[in-house]
Amino acid sequence: MVGGFRIGRIFGIPIYLHPTWLIIFGLVFWMLETQLRGIAPDWSGELRLGFAAAAALLFFASILLHELGHSVLAIRHRVPVKSITLFVFGGVALMERDPDDPRAEMEIAIAGPVVSGLLALAFTAATRALPEAAPVRFLTGWLGDVNLIVALFNLIPGFPLDGGRVLRAVLWAITGDAARATRTAAGTGQIVAYAFIALGALEVMGVPTMQALGLGAGPVSGLWFAFIGWMLLALAGGAVRQVELDASLRGLCARDILGPIPARLEADSSVAHFARELVMRGRRWALVQQAGEVAGLVTLSDVRRLDPDAWETTPVSRVATPVEALVTAGLDAPVRDLLVTMGSRDLNQIPIVDAGRIVGAVTRETLVHAIELRQREHA
Ligand SMILES: [Zn+2]
Repeated sequence: MVGGFRIGRIFGIPIYLHPTWLIIFGLVFWMLETQLRGIAPDWSGELRLGFAAAAALLFFASILLHELGHSVLAIRHRVPVKSITLFVFGGVALMERDPDDPRAEMEIAIAGPVVSGLLALAFTAATRALPEAAPVRFLTGWLGDVNLIVALFNLIPGFPLDGGRVLRAVLWAITGDAARATRTAAGTGQIVAYAFIALGALEVMGVPTMQALGLGAGPVSGLWFAFIGWMLLALAGGAVRQVELDASLRGLCARDILGPIPARLEADSSVAHFARELVMRGRRWALVQQAGEVAGLVTLSDVRRLDPDAWETTPVSRVATPVEALVTAGLDAPVRDLLVTMGSRDLNQIPIVDAGRIVGAVTRETLVHAIELRQREHA
């Protein structure tokens, strides 16, 4: 889940609000306003609106605290957190990579539900302490319930929910096999997802399944349930692919998959020369040199942007990426990081530098080859 508008930064982590979050905000606001009409008919319209808005904002803050719980533990285990996004499904803290050991995974996963559980306790305690007639009781009571639901829902042991991550960490610790633990936890995640869809569908068809679980009855909550199941199914599939890719690259660094030293072209040679000499021989890119020094990098896509009529008269240095803007990496750079960089910067190759000299390159082709080899070894 990417996108949305940035609303701030906490512990150096950018916080994003996805437009779909407004659906939840609207729903919570409308639901509470309707409830308040029933419980407090003597309140003024402004007071009701104010209470509903305050509750929706505090709910938002509760979800944010849940995600910050995950993030603080992640940072403690040296897993960088890229962003926190709040969207229709709740929140997600995007980690740059998976933790290196099951203990870290367990602590990061459990931190969110622990925060939600503590919030539930605090709001419930406040409700008990407040006088019976205090209007604020309505607010604290609702927030106590809703945080408890968030904690319990996330503890369902289906990957990629927090409970599924805890299950994965436990299996990982027992078997020592992260990939197998992921597949098992994802399997339970799929069972949970299908159960949600089935229960929701039955409710829509008029079979009262939701009430038996203590949930709101009716076709709307049935549809909502099925929708959550469908989202879980998609998330489980995506998360498994990501984790398997990550596991297959664990421990690999640039020197293990280093490709040959790239071809070089003189800066003043023409684009047509590049096309004839290199592209025809199956090369997709080359370094551009001037007076023996690397001055840039030219790729097939740089050339494609140029009108073919100008190929003969344009020097490669005009279309190349200059050396100052070049993304390079060292021999010990983890392959996982190179993959992330290639994806986020839309690169097909990264020259590898050692002691100031380019000693080779990692390309998308060498990466795909390495992944295939590793996955065959693991199969
Ligand atoms: Zn969580």
